[in-house]
Amino acid sequence: MSSDKIESERKYECHKCWVEMKKEEIKTFGPNIIIDVCPKCKGIWLDKGELDKLLKDRKLTNYLTKHIGTKSRSPMICPRCGNTMDIEKAEDIEVDVCLTCNGVWLDEGELEKLKETSEEGFEPDELAKFEEKEEEKLYKKRNSSLNKFFRKFTK
Ligand SMILES: [Zn+2]
Ligand SMILES: [Zn+2]
Repeated sequence: MSSDKIESERKYECHKCWVEMKKEEIKTFGPNIIIDVCPKCKGIWLDKGELDKLLKDRKLTNYLTKHIGTKSRSPMICPRCGNTMDIEKAEDIEVDVCLTCNGVWLDEGELEKLKETSEEGFEPDELAKFEEKEEEKLYKKRNSSLNKFFRKFTK
């Protein structure tokens, strides 16, 4: 046990089973990463960037964690930051992604399915992403005009 393990000592509960998640070390080509696994339902929590390290597939990871829009379609609350999450789909796999911290929740078996999808050569479905990209653009636009609006009054 070395002292640089402190970061990985944080404990989280599974949002489904309310049991403490267990740390599991996964070997990758780079430094090993430590993920949280629920001992009951075998769900996995991945922090931002960890999915990419596991899959080694930038295209697939970006598809799942970038341009996720602003609407929450998931009933799940992020176990890390407590914000709302959205459901993202790659082929027939549905994962929950946090709109704020970009962490990813995978149910049992979904990581394997994602790996298979990646090995078969994943091609992003741009059409399916279109709506979320538009949503994001609109949201940014609305925010910047709101800011202008408020600036007028705070002078
Ligand atoms: Zn669980
Ligand atoms: Zn979060």
